[in-house]
Amino acid sequence: MEDLKQSHSLILKLGLLSSSFCASNLISISALSHFGSMDYACSIFHQIDFPNSFQFNTMIRGHIKDTNLDEAIIFYNRMLEMGIHPNNFTYPSLLKGCSYLQRLEEGMQLHGHVFKIGLQDDIFVQNSLINMYGKCREITKSCTLFNQMDDLDKSSATWSAIIGAHVSKEMWGECLDMFRELSSRKDWRGEESVLVSVLSSCINLNALDLGRSTHGFLIRNLSGLNVIIETTLLDLYLKCGSLETGLSIFERMKVKNEWSYSVMISGLAFHGYGIEALTVFSEMREKGFEPDGVVYISVLTACSHAGLLKDGFTLFEKMKEDKIEPTIEHYGCLVDAMGKMGKVTEAFEFIKKMPMEANEVVWYSLLGACWVHKDLELGEKVAKKLLELNPQQTNGVYAMLSNIYAKSQRWELVSLTRRALVNPLVKTHGFSFVEVKRKVYKFVSNDTLWAKCEGVSDMLYQMQWQLRFEGYLPDLSEIFLDVDEDEKRERLSRHSQKLAIAFGLIHTSKSSSIRIVRNMRMCKDCHVYTKMISLIYERRIVVRDRNRFHCFENGVCSCKDYW
Ligand SMILES: [Zn+2]
Ligand SMILES: [Zn+2]
Repeated sequence: MEDLKQSHSLILKLGLLSSSFCASNLISISALSHFGSMDYACSIFHQIDFPNSFQFNTMIRGHIKDTNLDEAIIFYNRMLEMGIHPNNFTYPSLLKGCSYLQRLEEGMQLHGHVFKIGLQDDIFVQNSLINMYGKCREITKSCTLFNQMDDLDKSSATWSAIIGAHVSKEMWGECLDMFRELSSRKDWRGEESVLVSVLSSCINLNALDLGRSTHGFLIRNLSGLNVIIETTLLDLYLKCGSLETGLSIFERMKVKNEWSYSVMISGLAFHGYGIEALTVFSEMREKGFEPDGVVYISVLTACSHAGLLKDGFTLFEKMKEDKIEPTIEHYGCLVDAMGKMGKVTEAFEFIKKMPMEANEVVWYSLLGACWVHKDLELGEKVAKKLLELNPQQTNGVYAMLSNIYAKSQRWELVSLTRRALVNPLVKTHGFSFVEVKRKVYKFVSNDTLWAKCEGVSDMLYQMQWQLRFEGYLPDLSEIFLDVDEDEKRERLSRHSQKLAIAFGLIHTSKSSSIRIVRNMRMCKDCHVYTKMISLIYERRIVVRDRNRFHCFENGVCSCKDYW
């Protein structure tokens, strides 16, 4: 910076600032280099009588680099006022700023200007527009632009933008479809950003095989993987239920950052390895990384899954010492841990002392604990709180309450609560993904599309038949629709997880595991069903639900029936 100031004063002395070459260089260095500053760049800019488009573009770029879109737009407007034409360097910078800050309105105005000026066919501008609409979650607009482009004109940045756009909308399947199209092109060389998007899609779809082959591709095509890619890979293996591979990647990583530790800790927590999660957590601190609130949620979750209540409380205190304000999620983890240990009354007292109001998640976790530990009296109190908190959604509460009554054999109360159940108007659909031969298939509970998949119907029938033979009885307690028993049984048998298992059993080899990811918490019936299927068909079935992993093998589940 000092050198820069010196050359600036020298240029002034020699009267060279009127030379646009000297001025441009000075502005570029102060606006764009890491040691420069925008204030300094501005002071030079204002000494120029007739700035040109290059100098304006540099000022715009500099402000965008500092994520200061408003200032950049002021320069852009001044540029227009002075009659200087913006060009294909001006818009990409401005649009990048709009994407960062998700400023759709400004982005759309700029899109209008692009048309007026006639830059709509410029590839840089097009790519920036696709990216901007994608980041602002206007996927249809991105797609329209993408589809209007000639196939031969699409560059790797175009593909990266459109795939990234699908990632921002969490359209994972579409993202993989586009990747398939892209990777079949001869001129495509593995783009890092695209591959990270692909890996994220694999993580969300539980597509371990495709993720693995992407991993192979990365090793073959990139010289050395950086910490972002390595951590994404780590996340992939952990979230897809492959803890061992995850661990070996983690151990071999030369560079680790906060994020790598955070991913490893939450992976161990999800798999139920509490003590190991704590070890990695202390390693993280020893290496000088400051854990943030998110890491504390993972490590507290780990304590809760592994029944490490005391450690949980120690960490909670440690966290406050670290000046991290505990949120409801942190309190929730402790409530959950106490509930799991059967300390339901203590958990209730703890909730009362929390500095914030408990939310539904916290109360539900306690209600679940009351059910497991047969605490009818407290269960009623908690249910009352939940009903007050959300009078619109009472079904879940009444259902849980009736389960508590059933467990305490209070049948008259069971039927009373059952009557309080109303037909839900809007029902979120449960779905499950299963990967077969590197493709991910989606099954939705109770829809009929699966009937088109060859063999699924026969397989389901065969599974049902063998289950009944082994003594399986459908558990109807979690079906809240006002329909007769037969209909309930029918609906239960078409839960997405069961459809996915049937499909997996048909299409994967006998020695391989079936891996499923589902959007909702697993119902009790699916849990029993899957345990028995794992025994009958001698298959390892790994299911990731909203809360954790369930690894079914030889008729038992890794969650020990508490989830
Ligand atoms: Zn189910
Ligand atoms: Zn389980």
